[in-house]
Amino acid sequence: MRTFWDELALYLEYLKAIGVKTLPKKKAFERFLKLDLSPPPKSLAEIAKEIEGCTRCKLHRTRTNIVLGEGPENATLMFIGEAPGRDEDLEGRPFVGRAGKLLDQMLGAINIRRAEVYITNVVKCRPPGNRTPEPDEIEACLPYLAKQIKLIRPRLICTLGLVAAQTVLATTQPLSRLRGKIHEIDGIKVVVTYHPAFLLRYPSYKAQALEDLKLLKRLYEELK
Ligand code: SF4
Repeated sequence: MRTFWDELALYLEYLKAIGVKTLPKKKAFERFLKLDLSPPPKSLAEIAKEIEGCTRCKLHRTRTNIVLGEGPENATLMFIGEAPGRDEDLEGRPFVGRAGKLLDQMLGAINIRRAEVYITNVVKCRPPGNRTPEPDEIEACLPYLAKQIKLIRPRLICTLGLVAAQTVLATTQPLSRLRGKIHEIDGIKVVVTYHPAFLLRYPSYKAQALEDLKLLKRLYEELK
């Protein structure tokens, strides 16, 4: 059985392989929770209008489309991933590539339809080469995520991957310490699991992801 340190070493190896040099700093997480969100947005269309042509961070230079998110404005459950990938950048929709297909399968495994949940990412533009978003990019983009959460007011959030978990929960703890628990931000319950792209690369973690999804499903049924 793998220890926490084995798992951490494996994850660091994975991050290195995909070109990650730095992880987001706590400062960005803290600011996320302290952001002044007033006045609240009236609709997703209003947020879409605001984000149009955004140049707040350097990711605007290489993106094709901004990927704000997709799903009902009154969704009970929100999924938050890391950043759009190549397919998402081309289509302007979240989770449409291979990782998106796996997310659909993960939802199917717990009998949740994609159409009933809201899906978005921490940053809304694709980082070049799918690298991990940098702290300044996350910080620049967080107000949009904060507005989405404030407008939709999901009762439950599922974060996908390390960056989303650490950003939403304002922590620097590793994923292995955050999984399997029910967290809470601003009265919203939060469950943490792996990013589908990570599961495609390391399928042996799918069993753990299924445990996370079962926890998510139980909470979702209770909150609906
Ligand atoms: S990632 Fe976010 S902050 Fe950066 S340019 Fe895109 S929308 Fe703007």
